[in-house]
Amino acid sequence: MKPGKVSLIGAGPGDPGLLTIKGRDCLESADVVIYDYLANPVLLGYARPDAELIYVGKSRGHHSVPQDQINQMLVDKAAAGLNVARLKGGDPYVFGRGGEEASLLHRHNIPFEVVPGVTAGFAAAAYAGIPLTHRDITTSLALLTGHERPERKLSNLDWEKLATGLGTLIFYMGMTNLKMIGEKLIEHGRPADTPVAVVQWATLPRQRTLTGRLDEIADQVAAAKIAPPAVIIIGEVVRYREELRWYDNLPRFGRRFLITRPRAQAASFVALLQAQGAETICIPTIEIAPPDDWKPCDQALSQLNNYAGLILTSANGVDAFFDRLSSQNLDLRALAGVEIIAVGPKTAKAIEKHGLKPDFVPQSYRAEGVVDELLARGVNGKRYLYPRTEIARRLIPDSLTKGGARVDAPIVYRTIAPEGKQEMIRHLLESGELDAICFSSSSTFDNLHTLFGEELHQLKKKTAFFSIGPLTSETIRKHDFEVALEPENSTLDDLVMAMVEYYCDREE
Ligand code: SAH
Repeated sequence: MKPGKVSLIGAGPGDPGLLTIKGRDCLESADVVIYDYLANPVLLGYARPDAELIYVGKSRGHHSVPQDQINQMLVDKAAAGLNVARLKGGDPYVFGRGGEEASLLHRHNIPFEVVPGVTAGFAAAAYAGIPLTHRDITTSLALLTGHERPERKLSNLDWEKLATGLGTLIFYMGMTNLKMIGEKLIEHGRPADTPVAVVQWATLPRQRTLTGRLDEIADQVAAAKIAPPAVIIIGEVVRYREELRWYDNLPRFGRRFLITRPRAQAASFVALLQAQGAETICIPTIEIAPPDDWKPCDQALSQLNNYAGLILTSANGVDAFFDRLSSQNLDLRALAGVEIIAVGPKTAKAIEKHGLKPDFVPQSYRAEGVVDELLARGVNGKRYLYPRTEIARRLIPDSLTKGGARVDAPIVYRTIAPEGKQEMIRHLLESGELDAICFSSSSTFDNLHTLFGEELHQLKKKTAFFSIGPLTSETIRKHDFEVALEPENSTLDDLVMAMVEYYCDREE
């Protein structure tokens, strides 16, 4: 059998936006993804839903999978004809044992490629506001490991050359040896007041940066309890941080939001929060699927001229309805004379995309508004078509029927829990670092609760639940959770504005 290809991919330092486009392309096409502790699991969202995801990093209380086992896995999977994305933190060829993995693949005649990533040292410098070289100060830069391997003692490094022959030094894996690194450099000629920055969890909302003098930094780090992963940047360039920091002083820096929608549907929301320094993670907790049976819908489509009005209450419903219309060989002319009613502006926009303008949108953007308006005009004897999701409320059909109308409510789509995203969501929930989860419908909450009830309950004190509107809030409360925020109008834009206010109130 022809072996698959292995891509050694640099995942970057943490911020998911720092993955390269080529890295993303590899992830999207891989059959198997093998990923490390330092690779942001959010990136797994790019993997195919049916891709096998294998975590080989440390997990609570467990050691990471030994390197020779990882090697074997790479060889076995590729030999079985599968394309493997080997996702490694930072850059695969910088202190990442990427060289060892590539050599092994070469020995087994397995085709491979290497996709560079943004290495932690460079990323930490950028996000802490430290230019690594500077014409006025330093023209050279070294990347070093501060990890002491028993057989090759750190003390064997040529400290004199490091201390005096090079400009900026970046130590990886140096936290346990920080004291000794400082002492050795000073002993061999670096001034004791050389500025040092220690950057932990660079590029992530939990980034922490400590600066100090070479002779004092180890004690400061111990006092501040800064643990790995962190890089140590040593050199005069560190002084620029004061002037050039831009990331960790953004107003929403350090906040992490989970948005239960596909990124494409929350673009403006995400852009606003990111511009303020927050990390936004978009993972849909629902997926759209077709109904089990199209017959009721098709029957309605074959007699559209019988309807006085078409009531649409979600963008998904709109798309499903119009797609079906066209797949039944019909077009917009079939809707001539039918009044088009949209529950809110997003639904209206979705309708416009299909080339029609809704006749009205209620002011409250809710089903109640649709019902009130129609009843006020009188519905007796009229027939309405209400294409809906499987779990839609009965409010519209029940109320209109009471008013004497006939309502056909065929199912045009179903919402289902997405497969393949669960591992990623579990990681996020367990990390305990979500400031808030934004729920944009009852089903987004219901699905998350069904899949991760226990984990959600553990989040109770730490994570705020933001809800898009009254129905979603009701669902959240029904499960015994508090709703921290609900905007006056039920749109994502209103939710962002409410969130901005929410945090401003807290920060004052
Ligand atoms: N291949 C990786 C390095 C792996 S070695 C790269 O190119 O970045 C692991 C070390 O990388 C850690 O001990 C720490 O020094 C550094 N590191 C990785 N991610 C980091 C991050 N987000 N912030 C700070 N240091 C990080």
